[in-house]
Amino acid sequence: MTRRLWMAGRLWQRVIDDCRHRLPEEACGLLIGRVDDAGWHVFRACPSRNIAGNPRRHFEIDPLLRLKLEKELRTGPFCVTGHYHGHPNGLAEPSAADRAAIVEKHLLWLIAAPGSSGMMEMTAWRPLGNGFAPVPVTLTADAGKWEEDAGYEFRQ
Ligand SMILES: [Zn+2]
Repeated sequence: MTRRLWMAGRLWQRVIDDCRHRLPEEACGLLIGRVDDAGWHVFRACPSRNIAGNPRRHFEIDPLLRLKLEKELRTGPFCVTGHYHGHPNGLAEPSAADRAAIVEKHLLWLIAAPGSSGMMEMTAWRPLGNGFAPVPVTLTADAGKWEEDAGYEFRQ
């Protein structure tokens, strides 16, 4: 069975909105849920400051946010399952820079970009070999949880 991303529909939209609102910079953030044989189940998303030197061209998730979440999730059952970022001028697919930036092979990637119509599009990917493989997405009726204020100073 192909493993899928199962994500709360409203949360999926909220991530897209974050990527649009933070143009022309690349938005980024972490996804939280659980992983099983059916794939990645995402219930929470936490936006991160983009601490890259040039946030219009690259993204780097704030390690302080990652640390805070890993501490909170230490006792389970959920974990950091992936992350998202925007491509202000690119396509909603991994770039060469993204391929070079793969460190954690188990994390799911969401990438959002303005499509040719101007509507933001978002796609899901998993690291495979030296690149990425697309991951099919099923949006669920779960409410999900968007956390701009989770004890982490998101706004600079
Ligand atoms: Zn990218």
